[in-house]
Amino acid sequence: MPQATLIIATRNAHKTMEIRQMAGDDYLVRDANDYPDFPQVEETGTTFLENATLKAEAISACVQGFVLSDDSGLEVDALGGAPGVWSSSFGGEEGNHARNNLRLLDEMREVPEGARGARFVCVMVIARDGKALAHFRGTVEGRILAAPSGAEGFGYDPLFAPIGHDASFAELGAPIKNQLSHRSRALSAALEWLNNHSH
Ligand code: IMP
Repeated sequence: MPQATLIIATRNAHKTMEIRQMAGDDYLVRDANDYPDFPQVEETGTTFLENATLKAEAISACVQGFVLSDDSGLEVDALGGAPGVWSSSFGGEEGNHARNNLRLLDEMREVPEGARGARFVCVMVIARDGKALAHFRGTVEGRILAAPSGAEGFGYDPLFAPIGHDASFAELGAPIKNQLSHRSRALSAALEWLNNHSH
C-alpha cells in the first residue's frame, strides 16, 4: 500500500517526532516546518479544542488533504487545572521548557505527596479545506514529582510520572511514553477515523 501523507499543523518537532513514531510506516508524517509558507497560527482560544481547531482549519486551508492538529498541555489539580492551555508559556516565555518546569516546581513546593495529581491532555482535530471534520481527546493521569529526572521527551516530561510508575516520562522514554501518553490515545482514535475516511 502506498504511504499516505499526514500533515501535522505544528512547528513543535517533538510532537511531530512522537506522532511519526506512533503512526508507523503507513504514513509519511510532515509538519509546518516542511512548508515555510504556512501561516503562524495565533492560539487565541481558551480551550484545547478551540486552539486545535484554529490550527487545523488554518493550515488545511493552505494545503490539499487531511491536516491533523495537536493542542496539548498539563492540568495540575493543586493549581486548579493550571497551566492547561497556557502550558507552553507558563514560565513567562513561549516554548521555554526550562522556565516552565522551574515555575511548576516552585508552585508545587509546599504541596504534599498525596495532593500532587495531574494529567496531560491532548486534543487533536482533523480538518480538510479549512473545515474541522472530527476531534479526539486523550489524557494520561499521573503526578508531579518533587524534582526533575530523566533526559528524554520534552516539556514537562521530567516532572510527570504517569500513574503506575515512579519514574517520569523523561526517564521512561519513548517506547513507554508512546504506549501511555495523552498524545498516543488521541492519535489512535484519529488514525482510526482517517482509516475509515481516506478512501
Ligand atoms: P501547545 O503547543 O499550545 O499545544 O502547547 C503544548 C505545551 O504543553 C508544550 O509546550 C508543553 O509545555 C506541554 N506539553 C504538551 N504535551 C506534552 C508532553 O507530551 N510532554 C511534556 N509536555 C507537554
